[in-house]
Amino acid sequence: VFNFSAGPAALPESVLRQAADEMLDWHGSGMSVMEMSHRGREFISIHAEAESLLRELLAVPAGYKVLFLQGGALGENAFIPMNLLRGKTSIDFVNTGEWSKKSIKEARKYARANVVASAAETGFDRVPARDTWQLDPDAAYVHICSNETIGGVEYHWTPDTAGVPLVADMSSNLLSRPVDVSKYALIYGGAQKNIGPAGLTIVIVREDLLGQALPITPSVFDFKEQADNDSMLNTPPTYAIYMAGLVFNWIKAQGGLVAMEAHNRQKAALLYDFLDASKFFSSPVARADRSLMNVPFKLRDESLDAEFLKGAQARGMLQLKGHRSVGGMRASIYNAMPIEGVQALVAYLKEFEARHG
Ligand code: PLP
Repeated sequence: VFNFSAGPAALPESVLRQAADEMLDWHGSGMSVMEMSHRGREFISIHAEAESLLRELLAVPAGYKVLFLQGGALGENAFIPMNLLRGKTSIDFVNTGEWSKKSIKEARKYARANVVASAAETGFDRVPARDTWQLDPDAAYVHICSNETIGGVEYHWTPDTAGVPLVADMSSNLLSRPVDVSKYALIYGGAQKNIGPAGLTIVIVREDLLGQALPITPSVFDFKEQADNDSMLNTPPTYAIYMAGLVFNWIKAQGGLVAMEAHNRQKAALLYDFLDASKFFSSPVARADRSLMNVPFKLRDESLDAEFLKGAQARGMLQLKGHRSVGGMRASIYNAMPIEGVQALVAYLKEFEARHG
């Protein structure tokens, strides 16, 4: 079976097998990871290793805190303003689609949210060119969504924000390729795509921005308090952190993020090349901004959507239905999707087109 879910998404099979093997007795401890105290020596080692692997994979520079939190990326849409306003009153946003819109809406509870560039006019099919952004030098930060999971629009460049801190929601492309962390003030994301099970939220933040949270900030979402307590101010999502550690190890064994990127580019090219040549299927996204992770596509005849999905399911290709807000189809091809999954999908697309095209 090939699972094309946008998230929670497929995890590497070898990781799931290892977790199953270790389920009842982790490394001879006699305990499942789920049963361990988060303050015990066993779990502290699991937590420390996961953080150190993540730092290594992303080459996180000195001066950044890596936090393992809860609350999801939508939670961060509130916690980031609470932590990073630092006495300022406005935030600049680039609106590239559904997830940007959610970030903007949430931030408006805490600050003025200025949309400095938007792709709304073209149906969110692209990233607005940097020279169209009207940045405010006094904004607390500039927020982008580096990969719009629903629309399939991805930044393939890092914006220069002229000294204003850059914040990115990387929920759906973190660890899919190398990132120059030093260009960002804060990177965040839910884990349930390339990292592990839902329940863990990653925040990587420049230390010098911390310590000025709004007084209303819940302590467990005050990044400074969590950083000072190794993300263990309260009980962390222990099992999700353990699983993330296994995934980080798997990525490292595959050759790290450079290898991930090569693999992801190969998979995406296979699918986009087919869509571009097809007269029946099409990609709605501008070529330069197409996501390597989430590939939305449409059938020329939408009345065949249900039949398409039924045939996919029968061939072991799961969760290809597009997000309810945009319709159509979407193939999410995260790190754990093997090239064979994309080959099987393209073979089915060809077969379907031959039958209906
Ligand atoms: N941002 C992006 C880009 C996403 O893809 C998602 C979700 O799936 C979210 C935010 C919301 O994340 P969560 O459900 O972890 O709050």
